[in-house]
Amino acid sequence: MPELPEVEVSRLGISPWLINHTITDVIVRDKRLRWPVPDEIKTAVGRTISDVTRRAKYLLIDVGNADIVLHLGMSGKLRVVEKSTPVIKHDHIDIVLDTGKCLRFNDPRRFGACLWQPKGDELPQFHKLGPEPLTDAFDAERLHVLSRGRKSPVKSFIMDNDVVVGVGNIYANEALFMAGIDPRRAAGRVSASRYAALTDAIKAVLQKAINEGGTTLKDFAQSDGKPGYFAQHLNVYGKAGKACERCGGVIKSKVIGQRNTFFCIGCQR
Ligand code: ZN
Repeated sequence: MPELPEVEVSRLGISPWLINHTITDVIVRDKRLRWPVPDEIKTAVGRTISDVTRRAKYLLIDVGNADIVLHLGMSGKLRVVEKSTPVIKHDHIDIVLDTGKCLRFNDPRRFGACLWQPKGDELPQFHKLGPEPLTDAFDAERLHVLSRGRKSPVKSFIMDNDVVVGVGNIYANEALFMAGIDPRRAAGRVSASRYAALTDAIKAVLQKAINEGGTTLKDFAQSDGKPGYFAQHLNVYGKAGKACERCGGVIKSKVIGQRNTFFCIGCQR
């Protein structure tokens, strides 16, 4: 599943091909995504894209009077291709540009989304979202204050979109290892200083993944490109039964909040 770093790398990859270009056509081959693709999307034709931004795992293509809102869901991919490039299975949407290229959205499982958000009319999907993890609005004090009295595991707490957006399962596991915090520990029983370490770790693992993904940017404009996913070094995620690289202990796994959780009891308490 694309996580925040993959979505951010997608944004960086497609932006240069879209910004300051005019939309000449919008082709919807299948509107049955997670939510039906609204017909208003067609009114983007003739409008010029001024910016491409990201909020949580949504991409917002600014066309002046509205944003085209894209979400990659479980299996969505974005590519920039010549509009004449033959369509393959699951190519659901083309946003065609005055350059003759188009932004093509492919999504085999159709959990992704393409929505229309008029300016000043926020979609429900954006209500109640916590701060972006890579901004100053996300800090240790926020985690410490919000967590007081909470008995739920600290891992579930940092994956709650009301607390902070975009900390997916891989990154929650890795950040907790980096900060030396046992993912099973009650959120309300983690000290302020340890939340400071965890905040730094969350920002570091996400930024590192974005930086590593940056090497794949050119793939977004290759017709055969498979953009958006990149190998990265993981310390605990998916490593149950293997030796911890830091202490040599065995990495354990447990399901917390219906998500696979990996940790080292030697390094995390
Ligand atoms: Zn260890």
